[in-house]
This record gives sequence, structure tokens and C-alpha cells, in this order.
Amino acid sequence: CGIVGVLGSHEASPILVEALRRLEYRGYDSAGIATVNEGKLDRRRAVGKLVNLSDRLVHEPLPGKAGIGHTRWATHGEPNEKNAHPHKAGPVAVVHNGIIENFRELRAILAQAGYQPETDTDTETVAMLTQMHLDAGKSPVEAAQATIAQLEGAFALAFLFDGEEDLMIAARKGSPLAIGHGENEMFIGSDAIALAPMTDTLTYLEEGDWAVITRKGAEIFDMENRRVNREARKIRMDA
Ligand code: GLU
Repeated sequence: CGIVGVLGSHEASPILVEALRRLEYRGYDSAGIATVNEGKLDRRRAVGKLVNLSDRLVHEPLPGKAGIGHTRWATHGEPNEKNAHPHKAGPVAVVHNGIIENFRELRAILAQAGYQPETDTDTETVAMLTQMHLDAGKSPVEAAQATIAQLEGAFALAFLFDGEEDLMIAARKGSPLAIGHGENEMFIGSDAIALAPMTDTLTYLEEGDWAVITRKGAEIFDMENRRVNREARKIRMDA
């Protein structure tokens, strides 16, 4: 029910957990984070309160300065650890708010290509499609772009890749998503409150937009894949 992400210069996991805490007011049944560290994607997930996730992180730390996080409000698949985000398929991890309406059709395409799901969620198909495009030789950006074009429904999405510590891809259609600008650091979040401790300079993605984010900044594209300029604004938060 909430998405966060960071390409930072500090350890990502405490930043992600704090940002998720600020989204707790939206409600959720499970939570998780993924990072890329020394080129490798890894993740931790837990059912229930965020403290369950932060407890787990004490015993099984997740190093890395690039990461994505999620609080889940289950729509497809019961709230258990297997179905908690981030979802991972081979070299890609994905967090998602919303519903992928055509996930059954997408699963059929994936099954024909030999990709079998491991969870009950609609979201996993997003990670699997990206994996399929990567396996076919596309770059991470091309694979995410091709995947996003195949999705129907409502989504805010973030992608993170094995071997890519300075790349995060975000997309929005029907669910809000903001990009936060820092000092050689970039963030994403479902709302300004999530990012308030890190930055007050935000770019809101518009309907159908997707973004290629590195520590230097974000390149934003519309649904026709035209490069677009979306204003970065200073958000005042009195609270
Ligand atoms: N449809 C996805 C799921 O059930 C995402 C739900 C959400 O927005 O948290 O896992």
C-alpha cells in the first residue's frame, strides 16, 4: 500500500524502514525491502507490523546503498511472507501498489515461455516479465519499459536490478508516486510524507509516466516513451 526507494550515499535499509513507517497510516498487512549490495540483489520480508521487519533486519542485516521498500495491502494472494513484496524473478526485484488486471493473460504468456510463478500475486508477473525481457537480451531499462507497456490496471511500481547499484526504475498509472531529489541521492515515495526526512524537493510523476533514476537525477518519459519535463517543486510540510 506504500512504496519507497533510495539511491543513496548511506545504508539504504534504515532509510527505507523509516520511510515505510511514515506510510503506516495507510494500513498494511506485511512489509519488505530489497537492496543491491556488491552487485547482488537481496531482500527481507515479514508479515504483520513493520517492527517484525525491523527485528528481522537486526538478525539478518541487509547492506547496500540502493534499495526499494513496500508495505502491502493484499489484493491477490493471502498476506504471507511468500506473497510479500519485493517480488524477485532472477535478476530483478519489484514493488507494486495497485492491481495488474491482466496478470492471468500475462501468466499464460510467461508459462508458454517457460516461466512459472512462485507466488499467488498479480505483482510477481511484473518481475517475471522483466526477467523474460532481460533473458531475451534487453537492457534493464529496455526490459522495464517493455514490461510496463504490457501492464493493464493501476500501479505504482519500482524496479531494482542485480549488478545495478545506480539504477532504479519507477512507473505510475492510477497510483501516486513522487521522485525526491537529494544531494547526489535520489528517492521515490508514494507521498511527500514518506520522504520528508530526506528531501522536500519533489517531482510528481503524471499518469502514465515512467522514470529512469540514477543518483544524478531522473529522466522521465510519458506513456508514448517521449522524454518529458516534470517540474521539481519544493513542498512545504508543516507538521
Ligand atoms: N496487488 C498487489 C498484491 O496483492 C499489491 C497490493 C498493494 O497495493 O499493496 O500483492
